[in-house]
Amino acid sequence: MSAVVFDGEEIPLTIIHSAKRRTIGLTVKETGEVILRIPPHVTEEKAVSFAQSKAEWIVRHRAKFESRKRVERYYAEGETIPFFGRELTIRRIEGDKVRAEILEGELLLTGPAGTEADVFREAVIFLFRREGLKHLRPIVSEVAKAAGVEPPMLRIREQQRKWGCCTPKNGIILNVRVLLAPELVIRYLVVHEVAHLEHRHHQDSFWAEVERLMPEFREAEQVLKEQGWMWVF
Ligand SMILES: [Zn+2]
Repeated sequence: MSAVVFDGEEIPLTIIHSAKRRTIGLTVKETGEVILRIPPHVTEEKAVSFAQSKAEWIVRHRAKFESRKRVERYYAEGETIPFFGRELTIRRIEGDKVRAEILEGELLLTGPAGTEADVFREAVIFLFRREGLKHLRPIVSEVAKAAGVEPPMLRIREQQRKWGCCTPKNGIILNVRVLLAPELVIRYLVVHEVAHLEHRHHQDSFWAEVERLMPEFREAEQVLKEQGWMWVF
């Protein structure tokens, strides 16, 4: 098995031979796994020595991911949760039925004493999906108009990995976790999916349209990359 060595530590490499690539690719996944993608004209030996030359960079990235603690939410009194760029403070109210509502900067969670966090989590996701639609629809319409496309049908879903996608029949689906992001990122994800309605790929023409619709999109991508892991329920 191939590995790079840094300060006496051996870091294994997952090697993928890729017929489509033209250059060597090196990525560190959030799990700490290091992936080395090798194009057809490069030998494995040469690619591994390239990875070795980047050992310090690899170690730095793995350390960054390790420092990320899982965000734990208990849905307890006084806790905060973001919604559309502002922090809502949770207020717990005792009542027979489980209910979640947003009122003047607060997230009111009603339920019997001893209600588990998971029950409130589901109620909050349900509420955010509904409220999120109201906030997102005007942005989707505005971006669609600027892009010169029919306003797509918008849906919000709970998804593990993807932030968004578009459907074959003029629809876009956004991850409910998007609603925990800053507004800049929310807007970017709308722009990204709307741009896909006409450009169903990630080629230059797609990125040119994204930039036209949102010149500061790179800043949003950076925030997404660095903070996205925190936007969980
Ligand atoms: Zn995309």
